[in-house]
Amino acid sequence: MYDVVIIGAGITGTMLSWKLSRSRLKIAVLEKENDVAEGATMANSAAIHVGYDPEDGTLKAELNVKGAQQYESICEMLHCGYKTVGAFIAACGAEEEAHLDVLAARADARGIPYRFLSRDEALAEEPSLSDNVTKVLDFYTTAVVYPWEVAAACMEVACTNGVELHLNTPCQSIEKTPKGWLIRTPAGDFETKYIVNAAGVHAAQIHAMVAEPEWQATPRKGEYYVLDEDAKPVRHIIFPVPSKEKGKGVLAVPTVFGNTLIGPNSDFQEDPDDNGTSEAGLAYVRANIGKTLKNIPLNRSIRTFAGVRPTTTSPDFIVEEVSGAPHFIDAVSIESPGLASAPAVADRIISILAETLDMPENPDAVMTRKAPVILKLMTPEERSRLIAENPAYGKMICRCMQVSEGEIVDAIRRPCGARTVKGVKKRVGPGFGRCQGGFCEPKVVQILARELGISPLEVVYDSEKSNILQSENRI
Ligand SMILES: Cc1cc2nc3c(=O)[nH]c(=O)nc-3n(C[C@H](O)[C@H](O)[C@H](O)COP(=O)(O)OP(=O)(O)OC[C@H]3O[C@@H](n4cnc5c(N)ncnc54)[C@H](O)[C@@H]3O)c2cc1C
Repeated sequence: MYDVVIIGAGITGTMLSWKLSRSRLKIAVLEKENDVAEGATMANSAAIHVGYDPEDGTLKAELNVKGAQQYESICEMLHCGYKTVGAFIAACGAEEEAHLDVLAARADARGIPYRFLSRDEALAEEPSLSDNVTKVLDFYTTAVVYPWEVAAACMEVACTNGVELHLNTPCQSIEKTPKGWLIRTPAGDFETKYIVNAAGVHAAQIHAMVAEPEWQATPRKGEYYVLDEDAKPVRHIIFPVPSKEKGKGVLAVPTVFGNTLIGPNSDFQEDPDDNGTSEAGLAYVRANIGKTLKNIPLNRSIRTFAGVRPTTTSPDFIVEEVSGAPHFIDAVSIESPGLASAPAVADRIISILAETLDMPENPDAVMTRKAPVILKLMTPEERSRLIAENPAYGKMICRCMQVSEGEIVDAIRRPCGARTVKGVKKRVGPGFGRCQGGFCEPKVVQILARELGISPLEVVYDSEKSNILQSENRI
């Protein structure tokens, strides 16, 4: 019998499992995919919004501010990338400038630092601002992270502290039992006292297994261009002024890896699992980035991608015990800023659990992880020393991102390690660069096969049946 089963290993489920792993509770995380962070956590703008955008009085506002405040120290503890880049909210004309004052007033009330910049001051820092921009509000503590890296790191530490991660384990049905709940999956049954529903775009289906939802899922897709590392059109995240109709709008985001994201649109998505890009979606992005920025080198795009927001008819996050389903807790409608809010969403769930569940501290729990080797950040002397100890660090596999065989092996061997080509890419970066895996992917396949003791034919890119090699025969 588990104390808590968390359904979904996105940032909500993994952050919660990390925080809960400081207790002695018996915890399992069930994930339908073959890796963590395969849902919205994999494909978003990666911004740690500071919390000026959500409306007053909402849970979103409260959890965004509290979550964002924790990120830097969490990333430090988990040795994850965290880069403070600042967010320019670029107003075009008097009406939008007036809205900047509304955002600044919210920020004052929420203790969020900011500064106003005239057009000339802003241009001195961001020469690509369009001719329309008249004034800028800079939330200079806004940061970017690798969302999937944070999720994998949280899960890694949670697993080290005893949390069980069950991949390829979709929750198919839930039954009430005298002592709690019985979750049925193709990989077996899980009996538990408490369930946390952190299933992202599938949260409505999970909720419907125990109660009729009072809200409906209305997933919304967002599509992006990724620009090559050399094309650095911006240093800050550039936002248009947000609006009720268009949300945060089309942004330019300098990522931790050094690439720039341009996007997203926001279109209702019938199939929540369809994360393909479309010509119409990308055309919207192209048309709308021009409002705040000019001369964006979209011809330097190295790929496009899309993510699906777990939006519902509820305008606010829902983080509560479901009425009529005791000890079943929803973390649903976790749309943007769900990444930034995740630490505080986890805290709220923990305080709900603590109302009825005893959570003794585990004195042996260690909440940090060993810093991963990142060769490209080392001095030549440090590299030489490391390569002398382990020559695998001297074999360069990904030339674009400068990732060695040793780092890939580490990513596979760590707890909650990579099992797929995308899993390796998410943890250490090969495939994120200009060649998009053209040179390194065959080598990554070989390393995965060797480390996992499987045939290269069995290595998948990401999901089941996404095998890269079809036959041993040479053409
Ligand atoms: C385009 C876009 C841009 C965004 N930009 C930002 C941003 O800049 N900043 C920000 O703060 N937020 C942003 N967000 C929001 C943020 O990405 C999400 O709020 C966050 O990732 C939600 O995390 P989650 O863990 O709740 O859901 P997910 O990451 O979707 O995780 C849910 C998990 O549940 C699993 N699952 C589903 N059904 C089952 C089942 N039956 N059994 C087992 N497992 C199951 C899924 O496979 C998935 O891994 C953006 C989102 C999108 C799509």
